Amino acid sequence: VKFVYDFTEGNKDLKDLLGGKGANLAEMTNLGLPVPPGFTITTEACKTYLDSGEEPAALRDEVSAHLEALEAAMGKKLGQADDPLLVSVRSGAKFSMPGMMDTVLNIGLSDKSVQGLVQQAGDERFAWDSYRRLIQMFGKTVLGVDGELFEDALDKAKEAKKVTVDTELEAADLKKLVTRFKRIVKTEAGRDFPQDPREQMDLAIKAVFDSWNGDRAKLYRRQERIPHDLGTAVNVCSMVFGNLGPDSGTGVAFTRDPASGHQGVYGDYLQNAQGEDVVAGIRNTVPLAELESIDKKSYDQLMQIMETLENHYKDLCDIEFTIERGQLWMLQTRVGKRTAGAAFRIATQLVDQGLIDETEALQRVTGAQLAQLMFPRFDENAKAAQVGRGIAASPGAAVGKAVFDSYTAVKWSRSGEKVILVRRETNPDDLDGMIAAEGILTSRGGKTSHAAVVARGMGKTCVCGAEELEVDTKRRRMTVPGGHVVEEGDVISIDGSSGKVYLGEVPVVPSPVVEYFEGRMHAGADDADELVEAVHRIMAFADRKRRLRVRANADNAEDALRARRFGAQGIGLCRTEHMFLGDRRELVERLILADTDAEREESLKELLPLQKQDFVELFEAMDGLPVTIRLLDPPLHEFLPDITELSVRVALAEARKDPHENELRLLQAVHRLHEQNPMLGLRGVRLGLVIPGLFTMQVRAIAEAAAERRNAKGDPRAEIMIPLVGTVQELEIVREEADQVIAEVQAATGVELKLAIGTMIELPRAALTAGQIAEAAEFFSFGTNDLTQTVWGFSRDDVEASFFTAYLEKGIFGVSPFETIDKDGVGSLVKAAAKAGRETRPDLKLGVCGEHGGDPESVHFFHEVGLDYVSCSPFRIPVARLEAGRAAT
Ligand code: PEP
Ligand code: MG
Repeated sequence: VKFVYDFTEGNKDLKDLLGGKGANLAEMTNLGLPVPPGFTITTEACKTYLDSGEEPAALRDEVSAHLEALEAAMGKKLGQADDPLLVSVRSGAKFSMPGMMDTVLNIGLSDKSVQGLVQQAGDERFAWDSYRRLIQMFGKTVLGVDGELFEDALDKAKEAKKVTVDTELEAADLKKLVTRFKRIVKTEAGRDFPQDPREQMDLAIKAVFDSWNGDRAKLYRRQERIPHDLGTAVNVCSMVFGNLGPDSGTGVAFTRDPASGHQGVYGDYLQNAQGEDVVAGIRNTVPLAELESIDKKSYDQLMQIMETLENHYKDLCDIEFTIERGQLWMLQTRVGKRTAGAAFRIATQLVDQGLIDETEALQRVTGAQLAQLMFPRFDENAKAAQVGRGIAASPGAAVGKAVFDSYTAVKWSRSGEKVILVRRETNPDDLDGMIAAEGILTSRGGKTSHAAVVARGMGKTCVCGAEELEVDTKRRRMTVPGGHVVEEGDVISIDGSSGKVYLGEVPVVPSPVVEYFEGRMHAGADDADELVEAVHRIMAFADRKRRLRVRANADNAEDALRARRFGAQGIGLCRTEHMFLGDRRELVERLILADTDAEREESLKELLPLQKQDFVELFEAMDGLPVTIRLLDPPLHEFLPDITELSVRVALAEARKDPHENELRLLQAVHRLHEQNPMLGLRGVRLGLVIPGLFTMQVRAIAEAAAERRNAKGDPRAEIMIPLVGTVQELEIVREEADQVIAEVQAATGVELKLAIGTMIELPRAALTAGQIAEAAEFFSFGTNDLTQTVWGFSRDDVEASFFTAYLEKGIFGVSPFETIDKDGVGSLVKAAAKAGRETRPDLKLGVCGEHGGDPESVHFFHEVGLDYVSCSPFRIPVARLEAGRAAT
C-alpha cells in the first residue's frame, strides 16, 4: 500500500483516504490553482499506527521520498541552516472534527535555521516571532505542555515592555521569549525542544495520529455517530507567510453569501498577518472587497479562482488564502456551511445556472433546515439590545419575564404571565417550570445538557450555555456583560435558532415559510419572498421524487384542514381519546363507573352521537383521502380524577360526616383501576375486550358517519385501527364484532361501506408474529412510540427527563431513540414485521404513526424498508415530504 500522496496525486473524491482537507488541497492543485506544494499521509497509515502502536515500516521511507521531492521542488532543505524550508503539519479527517490536533506551523525552525530565516526574509523580528510560535504550538499540541504557561510568559513579556499587543514586541524581546519558551518545554515535557527538523516533523505527525484518540475527539465522534475506525490524515505543506509586511496578508472568503446565497464578494482580509491572528482577533479584519485597493493583482486572481472553484464544486465554497509578498496562495477550500435559508436559495440558484439538476438540489437541503425555517422568528428590523449569546439548543423565538426558579415559573404562568425560565443549568426538578415557560435559558451546558435535551423534546425554545451571563438564582437575578442586572420579572427575549439573548421584548414575526404553507403567501407572485420561492420549488422536486406518502396525526377538523394545506395525503392516526375530554369526561366517567349493563349502555348511547359528529367533521375535512381512526387506547385512569386528590377530598368529607355517595364510588373505581404500570396495563385492545360495547360504539359511530357523508355525496375513506394488539386472537375477536356492527349499519342505511380494519404494531410480540396478525389485518401502522418503549424497556413518559442526559453525554446514543428510530433494534423489528406481514397478505398497507414519522433520519429508514406512508403531526408534514423526496433520490 501507498501511505503518502503528493498533492498532485490525490483528488476530491479521496476523502476516505486523504481526509477532507487533503482531498481538497489535491483537487485545487490539479485544477492548477496556486497551492503551496506538499503531501498527505493517509488515514490508512494512521489506522495501522493506532492498531499496532507503531508507524508502518514503509511510512518513514515514503515520507523521506516525498520530503526530498518537496525539497527539490522548493530548492531548499527542511530546516536548512542558511535558508530553511519550513512546513506546516495539519490534521484532516474525513469529517471536520473539533477536539483533534489542528495545526503546527513553522516546522523546520531551530536555533540555527532561525538565523537563516533572518537572512532570507531580511526581517529579524519576523524570524524570531515565527520561532516562538513554533515552540509554543509544538509544546502545546505535540508535547502536551499546558498552553497557558506560554500565554502567561507572553503576557509577562508585554508587561515588561509596557505594550499591549504582540506586534509591538521587538526582535530582542522575542529572542528572550524563545529562551523562556524552551525552558518551559524542558521543565514541563522533561525534554528539550527538538532541534532536528525531521524529528520535529515526525513527532508532529505522530501527535496528529494520536489526537484521533483524544478524549474530546472520541466524545465528539460518539455524539455525531462518526465511526471510531476512520483515522485521520496528516497534511504536510510548505509554509507561506502572510506576515512578511504590508504586501502580505491572510484571509477567508466565500464564493457566495453563506447567509443569503447571493453571489458577490464575501470574506475578510487581514494585512500582514498569519492565519491564527485572524482567529485571535488581534487586529480588525477588513471586508474582502478592500483587497482590491490593497493588492489589485491578487484580488483579481482570487476572484477568478473563486469562480473556478464554484463551477468545479458546483456549490458554495469557503476558502482560506494567504498572500506572501504579492503572491497569492490557496491554503484550504471546502464546500461551505450556510444558513438554512441560504441552502434552499443556493440549491435553486444552482439549478437555474444549470450547474446541478433537481435530484442534486434535493441533496443540498435537509428537513432539519426546513424545520428551522418554519419557526417564528424575531423581526430582523426590530431594534434589540443583545446582551449575550449561548448555544442554539432548540429553535424558536421566545419572549417573557425572567424567572429564576421553577416554582415561580409555574405560579406566574398560571396567572397568565409569559415567562422565560433562567437557570445556571436545569435538572429533573425543573421540569414543571420548563413546561410552564415560553423558553429556557441557561448559562452552563451544551447541546446535550438536560435543558437542551428536554426542551428539544418538548419543542420549546432553548438557549443554553450562555456563559457571559452570570445567573444568581439565590438573589433571583442575572448580570449581563457590561454590568446591567436583569431582575426577576424583567422581560427578555431569546432566540433558540441563533442562541442570542436580548433585553426587553423583541417583536416576533411568523415564518414566511409557514405563511406559504398556510396559503397566506404565494410563490410566483411579483413581490414573492425569495425564500418562499425557493422552498416552493424544492418541495415540488421532492413531491415528484418521493414514493412514500405522507399523512397527518390529527384528531379534529381544524388540524386536518391545516394538515391538508401542508400537503397531507390523509390522516394516519386519529387518536379518539382526545374526543373524550372536556364536557364528555363526565359521560366517560359514568361509563367507567357503570355497575350494570343498563347503566353502561346508557352512557354509550349518549356518547354515540357525539362521537359520530366528530367523525362526520373529520371525513368532511379529509374528503377523498384516507382517515385512520384508532379506537380508544389509553388506560382509563386518565379519564378519572387523580387518586391522591380524590382520596383527600373523600377523607375531608368523611371527617365532616358528609361523604358524597358518588365520590365514594368514584374513589373505589379509581382504586380498582389503579395500576403500577398503566402503560403496560388495561389499555388498547384490552379495553375493547373487557368493556362491553365500547369499541362497537366507536365502530358504529364511524360507520354511521361514513354513511351520512356518502349520502351527502361525500367521499369518506375511513380505516379502523386497533391499538396495542399483541396476538391475532385479540384482533379476531374485535374484528368479528366490528364486522357485525358495520353490516348492521349497512343494512339500516342502505349504504354500502368499505371500511378497512387494521392494527397498530406497537408491541414486540405483535412484530414477531406479524405474519399471523396480517391474517386479520388489512393494514399495519407501526406505533413506534410504544414499540420503542417496549423494545428498550424505557418508560416514554419518564426517561427523557431522567437519565437520558447521562446516556447522551456518555455517547450511548447520539439522539433519543424516541426521536430518531433505533434502526438496529426497533427498526429491525419494523423491517421484519413488514416483510412477514406482506408474505401473508401481499397488498397489506404499511405505515408508521409514531413520532418518528416526522423525523428526517427515520423517514429515510421507512423509505428503505418499503413502508407505504409515514404519518406525523401537521407541522412536520413539509419536513416529511421533503425527506421522503430526498430518500428516493
Ligand atoms: C405509538 O405508540 O407510536 C402511537 C402512535 O400511539 P400513541 O403515541 O398514541 O401511544
Ligand atoms: Mg401507542
